[in-house]
Amino acid sequence: MKIEIPGCRELNITSLLLDYNGTIAVDGIMRRGVRERIEKLAEQLDIYVLTADTHGTARAQCEGLKAAVHTFPVDHAMDHKREILDRIGGDRCACMGNGRNDTKMFEKAALSIGVLDQEGAYGRLLAMADLCVCSAEDGLDLLLYPKRLIAGLRG
Ligand SMILES: [Mg+2]
Repeated sequence: MKIEIPGCRELNITSLLLDYNGTIAVDGIMRRGVRERIEKLAEQLDIYVLTADTHGTARAQCEGLKAAVHTFPVDHAMDHKREILDRIGGDRCACMGNGRNDTKMFEKAALSIGVLDQEGAYGRLLAMADLCVCSAEDGLDLLLYPKRLIAGLRG
């Protein structure tokens, strides 16, 4: 997915890394409207769901989704998320998250989207994000309708 942002940069995104709890899920349940958007984006991007899986529900909730689900020990999720981003190449990744354990991923991703929804968001993460949105659906729509993204980031 190529997105030219005038006066800012050109994005060449191949992969989308998604945090699970608080980002695409509330109380461990995937938000309504997320699945269909991920399916659409999966036609153009490799989708990863990266999670400490606080509720133990991520794999079951993502069943049948065109996404690679990675779960990590709760206390080291931050480093595991970054490791996967580095392996793909941060300059080819967009990521979306809400928690402190997303900060290392946000540091190096070509595009970072902070989500402030029902489970809240880590304040410093939002300060690191390229754009912040109020829901995962809105965040995924930035990639489905890139003019929204361009409007927020152009110089
Ligand atoms: Mg989270």
